[in-house]
Amino acid sequence: MLSRPPHAATVVGSGPNGLAAALVLARAGVKVTVVEAADTAGGGLRSSTDTHGVRHDHCATTFPLAQASPFFGEFGQALAGHGLELATAPVDAVHVLDTTRSATLHTSVVDTAAGLPGTDGRIWQAFFGPLGDPADRAAKVTDEFLRPILHVPRHPLLFAGFGVQAGLPASWSWGRFRSPEARALLAGIMAHAFTPLNLPGSSAAGTLLTVAGHAHGWPVAVGGSQSMADAMLAELAALGGSVVTGMQVTDVSQVSGADVLLLDTSVEDAARILGDRVPDRVARSWRRFHRGPAVAKVDYTIEDGIPWSSPDARRAATVHLSGTADQVAAAEKDCWQGRLPRRPFTLVGQPWLADPGRTVVYDNRQLNPVWAYAHVPAGWTGTAQDTFDLVTAQIEDAAPGFRDHVVDWSASDPARVEATGRNNIGGDISGGANDLVQLLARPRLLRPYDTGVPGVFLCSSSTAPGGGVHFMCGMNAADRCCPGAGAGR
Ligand SMILES: Cc1cc2nc3c(=O)[nH]c(=O)nc-3n(C[C@H](O)[C@H](O)[C@H](O)COP(=O)(O)OP(=O)(O)OC[C@H]3O[C@@H](n4cnc5c(N)ncnc54)[C@H](O)[C@@H]3O)c2cc1C
Repeated sequence: MLSRPPHAATVVGSGPNGLAAALVLARAGVKVTVVEAADTAGGGLRSSTDTHGVRHDHCATTFPLAQASPFFGEFGQALAGHGLELATAPVDAVHVLDTTRSATLHTSVVDTAAGLPGTDGRIWQAFFGPLGDPADRAAKVTDEFLRPILHVPRHPLLFAGFGVQAGLPASWSWGRFRSPEARALLAGIMAHAFTPLNLPGSSAAGTLLTVAGHAHGWPVAVGGSQSMADAMLAELAALGGSVVTGMQVTDVSQVSGADVLLLDTSVEDAARILGDRVPDRVARSWRRFHRGPAVAKVDYTIEDGIPWSSPDARRAATVHLSGTADQVAAAEKDCWQGRLPRRPFTLVGQPWLADPGRTVVYDNRQLNPVWAYAHVPAGWTGTAQDTFDLVTAQIEDAAPGFRDHVVDWSASDPARVEATGRNNIGGDISGGANDLVQLLARPRLLRPYDTGVPGVFLCSSSTAPGGGVHFMCGMNAADRCCPGAGAGR
């Protein structure tokens, strides 16, 4: 922490956290320069258009946490002014167990509960039912949990209640339900943690995603995720900030001159950039910090939608695949232990169902972008064809005939996922494993954003509160180096 507010800051990396840090500082009157290795700014928010004119999101495509984030509370209106629009599909998410069974997550708790068999609807409602306004509750939950774990809670009762729930193994959370549908729905959401689902703390990510989803849905950015980055960049320019692309930082000497330096980089890159300037106590924690399983991703251009057996899946922005809760748990355990599951947990994004503008008419054909990835072990060395076969087989199981709809595809094995985004080491898209230790100490328990080098801070998803587009690693780090900049957090 600096004794006086900085005049000038350099942010290395233009992902959602780097840009959030840049915006918070620029709004506080700091002169900000963002330096980015890639040719396009945006990090995990980048999109591009294929030869058919179909727009694909390279990384993030659905934003369950964005609107519930305190950052969005402060900058959402400005970003909307720069054209950012978030839109939801008629159905937020569906978990397909097999060709005859599925379960549906709606924004409304009541609608979700109504779709669950037997008494499970009542249990869902008791579990996630709004205590008052769902948006207000989600805002309080994210205000407490999208920050370092060691803090004085503003909402102590909610912090304690949610904290106990978040600390449970995910399998205990879905164990409350009787039907395979409700159990699988929750297991699929909790699998976003990329950890074995019987570990303490494995409920945390999924509970947060569900609470936020019941307030704001699971939206996509209209026009593709790049429009979120573009709105952030436009606001940064309006606040006097600037961006340099195509400059990879390998040594701190390349970016000297500002009072503060924020690194939206991996812990591994931060260690290289700062070298032996990092004190031993920090370097030791960083060396202990470890990565989680990876993803293998396919971007499809398809014709006429996906022929899901589940009618709700035909209306959902996000579809989860891989069977029952026990099957999802077994697949996640396999990945964690370095084995490729026979049926890996697979997510499918259908952004055109929320944003009809993503459908393109080409050669008299209606083309749509399908975004899909499977969880695979860290560093899995399958080829692009292996990746395509793996992910396509999962979709085909739940949507017989899918292959006939595929017009074009591009696959990213874990190595290519890393090549697409420098921070995705080994194909890990969470910035580091989400086991209990790293949920609490990310990448260190005390002062997670400090590097130990005066004036240099880490602000990527390798810091608290971790992966996903919620902007809060960036906002919290900016607040750490310029106290009060994060507006009273
Ligand atoms: C395939 C995939 C799918 C995902 N899906 C979702 C989703 O649907 N919803 C969701 O919420 N999240 C999703 N995520 C996760 C989300 O994208 C990340 O959590 C988020 O982007 C992290 O933001 P960040 O700013 O910390 O890092 P990043 O977005 O990775 O940005 C870091 C930036 O810093 C740059 N950089 C790094 N090191 C250097 C250096 N040394 N010099 C210069 N520049 C550097 C990188 O090039 C990059 O542009 C997904 C990620 C991937 C990869």
